[in-house]
Amino acid sequence: MGRIALHDAEQNTKYSNLALLKLAAYHKIKGDSVESYVPLFADQYDIVYSSKIFTFKKSNKPTGNVKFGGTGYNLWNTLPDEIEHLCPEYTLHPFEYSLGFLTRGCPNNCKWCIVPKKEGDIRSHADIDEFLRHKNVVLMDNNVLASDHGISQIEKLSKLGVKVDFNQGLDARLIDHGIAKRLAALKWLSPIRLACDTDAQMKHILKAVRLLRWHNARPARYFVYCLMKGTVEEIMERVQFLKGLYLEPFIQPFISFDGVDVRTKEQRSFARWVNHTAVFNSVLWEEYKPTKKENKPKYGLLPQEYIEKHCKLSEEPLIPLTE
Ligand code: SF4
Repeated sequence: MGRIALHDAEQNTKYSNLALLKLAAYHKIKGDSVESYVPLFADQYDIVYSSKIFTFKKSNKPTGNVKFGGTGYNLWNTLPDEIEHLCPEYTLHPFEYSLGFLTRGCPNNCKWCIVPKKEGDIRSHADIDEFLRHKNVVLMDNNVLASDHGISQIEKLSKLGVKVDFNQGLDARLIDHGIAKRLAALKWLSPIRLACDTDAQMKHILKAVRLLRWHNARPARYFVYCLMKGTVEEIMERVQFLKGLYLEPFIQPFISFDGVDVRTKEQRSFARWVNHTAVFNSVLWEEYKPTKKENKPKYGLLPQEYIEKHCKLSEEPLIPLTE
């Protein structure tokens, strides 16, 4: 019997590290003991598994007989199938939800995104029965709506009546009447998450939200990931558009794949302002007081400019509200 330690390099307090939970399941089946890594006992472990998801986050590396894994250490390493498809060891997971992927990959090739490079095209990955052990489930799929298997699993989830969070966001471009109806039949664990990474996606967000609201999807709260690559001027229209629709933008400044932090002070400051909902909903950007480290540049968008830009949206043909 071996003594196995798990090291979550990010020490994420919101989500468990899925790969570590699967490795724990694998070793428990073999009869090994599995515990969280404690530096004091580093020499006593037979194996220490250290997993890191993000390239840009700083972390302490463990010592001992360490096996490193995850995109944060190496883009290409993955778990072998015999471990990948085990149910995670939820006894080491302090949350009341199951965790996993129904699909992997994405058919799109957004140049800022690592998913198609690492995982390739969209493909079926697992049935929900493989890892569902709670009444709530957090799904980490990158583009579940691009997969027929993903859509049939959504239908299955609504029949099971479990609460769902598509944690990585749904692709608004793929939400038509049929999909909106299926999504509205789900119970949601959190706000419905969408992504609006470019200005070109605003019209798709508008259509998707109209359809979801038409089909009475609940909750009425929507959380929208927004990639920020440029200046405040360049992203402000998108943010104003989302706020105008009563959606909650969440700014994600671009970070390069190799982990080099290329975020500007302005981007950090803007993300801090938008992502703090209470501040965002009560203080204008022009009035926002950044922390001492931040250097907020002057910004002013004339209301007339805003109105003119948004008039373009109303030129889009109206979406028929019947199938
Ligand atoms: S749609 Fe999303 S997951 Fe797919 S490549 Fe673009 S950003 Fe990545």
